[in-house]
Amino acid sequence: MPFATRFAPSPTGYLHRGHAFSALTAFAAAREAGGRFILRIEDLDQGRCRLEFEAAMFEDLAWLGLTWETPVLRQSERMQHYAAALQRLIDQGLVYRCFKTRKHIMAESQNAPHGPGEAVRGSPLPASEEASALNQGRAFAWRLRLDRCRDVLAARWDDLGFEADGAWTRADPARFGDAVLARKEFPASYHLASVWDDAAQGITHVIRGADLADAPHLHVLIQALLDLPTPAYRHHPLILGADGKRLAKRDQAETLCALRAAGTAPAALRDGLGFS
Ligand code: GLU
Repeated sequence: MPFATRFAPSPTGYLHRGHAFSALTAFAAAREAGGRFILRIEDLDQGRCRLEFEAAMFEDLAWLGLTWETPVLRQSERMQHYAAALQRLIDQGLVYRCFKTRKHIMAESQNAPHGPGEAVRGSPLPASEEASALNQGRAFAWRLRLDRCRDVLAARWDDLGFEADGAWTRADPARFGDAVLARKEFPASYHLASVWDDAAQGITHVIRGADLADAPHLHVLIQALLDLPTPAYRHHPLILGADGKRLAKRDQAETLCALRAAGTAPAALRDGLGFS
C-alpha cells in the first residue's frame, strides 16, 4: 500500500495554530514518503458543525500552503456506510442497546472527548425490558459488547496491537469499556466513522495529536471485528498557548483566520511551527 495519511478536522470552530501544526506534520510526512495527503471533514455532529467553519478551513489550509486530494470526503454524506458497518456488528451480536442516560454515566465516571472516560461495562437488557424501553421511545447508545468481542476473536484478542511512534504496543481495548459506536437514529460515533473511513481511504499512517494517543486501543478492536487493516499510528505533541494550556477552538486570537487578518505571513507561521 502506498503511504497515505490524513488530516481530519471537525468544523465546529475555526482552526488554530495547533491544527496548523497537525496538518503540516501530516502533510510533511506524506511529502517525505512521496505519498498521499488526504483532507477529511469529520462533520458528524451536525448540531455543532457549521458550513461557515468548513469554508474557513479550506481557506486557512490553502493559505498555509497545503494541497490535498479532491473530492474531499465529508462524513455527513456517508451515513449509509456507517449504518452498514454497524449492522454487521448488530448481526453478530457484538453491540447492544444501552439505555443509561448521560447523566447517569457522567455521575459514574469522568468524561473525556474520544477518550476512555466513559468506561461503562454492561450487557443487553432482558428482551422484555428492552422491548418496553423501545416502546417508550427511550434514547439508547449502541455499545460494543466487550465480552462477546473477546469470545468471537478468541486467540486473535491476545494479538491485538498496533505500531505507534515506531514501537509495537499491545492493545488494551478494555480501557474504553463498552465503547459507544452509534446511537439511536444515528449510525456512527467518531470511533466507528473514523476507523471505517481510514480503511475506505487507504490510510496507511494515522498522524494526529497526542490527545488521541489512547484511541488506537479501541480502533484496532473495531478493525479486527470488521476485517479492516490497521494503519501505523504517530502522535505529535500538542501546541500550547501563552498560558501553557493546549489551544482550544475558543482561543480566538490563535485562530488562523485571526492570524491571517493580523497580517501574519504563512511562511512565518510555518517557520514558527518548525516547518521551514
Ligand atoms: N475529527 C477529530 C478532531 O477534530 C480528529 C480525529 C482524528 O484525527 O482521528 O478531533
